[in-house]
Amino acid sequence: MTANAPKLFVKSYGCQMNVYDAERMADALAPEGYVETQSAEDADLIILNTCHIREKAAEKVYSELGRIRKMKQETGRAPKVAVAGCVAQAEGAEILKRAPVVDLVIGPQSYQRLPELLREAAEGRRPVDTDFAVEDKFERLAKPSPKAIASRGVTAFVTVQEGCDKFCTFCVVPYTRGAESSRPAAQLIAETERLVAAGVREVTLLGQNVDAYHGEGPDGRTWSLARLMRALSEIEGLARLRYTTSHPRDMDDELIAAHRELPKLMPYLHLPVQSGSDRILAAMNRKHTADEYLRLIDRIRAARPDLALSGDFIVGFPGETDADFEDTLAIARDAAYASAFTFKYSPRPGTPAADMDGQVPEAVKDERLQRLQALISAQQAAFARSLVGREIDVLLDRPGRYPGQLAGRSPYLQPVQITAPGAVVGEVIRAVVTDTGANSLFAAPAGGARDILPQPAEAIA
Ligand code: SAM
Ligand code: SF4
Repeated sequence: MTANAPKLFVKSYGCQMNVYDAERMADALAPEGYVETQSAEDADLIILNTCHIREKAAEKVYSELGRIRKMKQETGRAPKVAVAGCVAQAEGAEILKRAPVVDLVIGPQSYQRLPELLREAAEGRRPVDTDFAVEDKFERLAKPSPKAIASRGVTAFVTVQEGCDKFCTFCVVPYTRGAESSRPAAQLIAETERLVAAGVREVTLLGQNVDAYHGEGPDGRTWSLARLMRALSEIEGLARLRYTTSHPRDMDDELIAAHRELPKLMPYLHLPVQSGSDRILAAMNRKHTADEYLRLIDRIRAARPDLALSGDFIVGFPGETDADFEDTLAIARDAAYASAFTFKYSPRPGTPAADMDGQVPEAVKDERLQRLQALISAQQAAFARSLVGREIDVLLDRPGRYPGQLAGRSPYLQPVQITAPGAVVGEVIRAVVTDTGANSLFAAPAGGARDILPQPAEAIA
């Protein structure tokens, strides 16, 4: 790295796919000499990697652009400013009109063109690229160096599938991320091998509908997500696999069986239901009922009894009555979540639900959100308490809060604080859960009497 290398600051909003994309943008700019910085103040290029899923998320971008404009005035510095991600895709050139501080706008399907667009911006043009590329973006994006991979830690994301053809009536994803497409399996195996060779121990496969994955296999056949995970499981040195986010309609028998058969596949599943009311589920175009969802959970738990279930809920969808909301509370209770994300319905321009009758007042949404959050928090705490005194594997992924402490993740994705002399980041250690905190577990290295959680092989016995 040269002393005067240009500095890049990427600020990501929203989902994990944006975290992955932020790294890809940094990789694309590394051959141009850019090095990453953690502060906008000393950056030569600021990229806001935006989210359009809810109004609040989208509006954050404009407040941040206001702060950048002020910072430029106060410091006299003139970093280039790029808006990327789903707001860029949805609003395109509008952003240039609304925010003169912006030098370029780039949608998620065009990141391979970032260096080219920056050159145009340097010439004083203000390029906008929101095309849905016909070329293979991932194939053209520069690969990260082993050093860059190692600097990002022992867990990594790999996007395997992008876009969505489901068109839930509340959601912007089919418009901002385009039609569903899956990356070829050979590309994903090679990418995962590269990550593992550089020290990554856990890989989370990402997709807007990751369980709809249907990529071309090295054998010329179409591979499912389960088939892909079977291949990835064989990579020596990879300790853990996860995938997110799944749609209930795409959870097939083969994927359910993978939870029983693949020891590296963690017993955690993020499977959003959104609502417990069949009337609302139909209006959302989810194409499944509450009962179908619960029966699906039963089948998955039969394959993997210790599965920690997570999900997403939307409260206050147009037309949602008190009775519909009671159905949502009921399904949350019945499904027994280990965690879940809860959102107030946010009308998104261009989506069918935004124009539906029966928009729910904000105060009602607030009250429902609070009640649902209270239930989910209680479930999360109960799940954490159920682990106290039991043995779990912990992947150590960073130094802990205090000297001698390390932090990691349980198989169920909970943060774990552990005092384990001699242990190192990247190691998976067996530990006894000793206590629970607000959002994490406390554990000590295992030894003595054991009460091991059911493992896949025991689960089927
Ligand atoms: N594909 C996943 C599925 O089908 O469940 C979800 C992907 S979406 C990026 C993440 C979550 O954002 C959704 O599950 C939903 O709960 C929430 N969401 C999407 N649109 C929303 C809206 N207009 N208002 C509130 N929440 C929304
Ligand atoms: Fe959005 Fe998920 Fe529905 Fe696709 S399936 S439209 S990403 S909520």
